[in-house]
Amino acid sequence: MAREVACKKCKAVTIGKVCPICKSTELTPDWYGIILIFDSSKSKIASLLDIHAAHKYALKVS
Ligand SMILES: [Zn+2]
Repeated sequence: MAREVACKKCKAVTIGKVCPICKSTELTPDWYGIILIFDSSKSKIASLLDIHAAHKYALKVS
């Protein structure tokens, strides 16, 4: 299984080389925690973390 990396800008987790959310290439393998956002408009966590797209996100990116 490929090591997942997290975007340093929006914290989206991906196995690709480019962030699927903000298209950033600043990805890091140093992250922990996982947040699944299914409906960003209804999720309080999403609004708290300023997330606007349904995706899998890291809780903390170092
Ligand atoms: Zn991103």
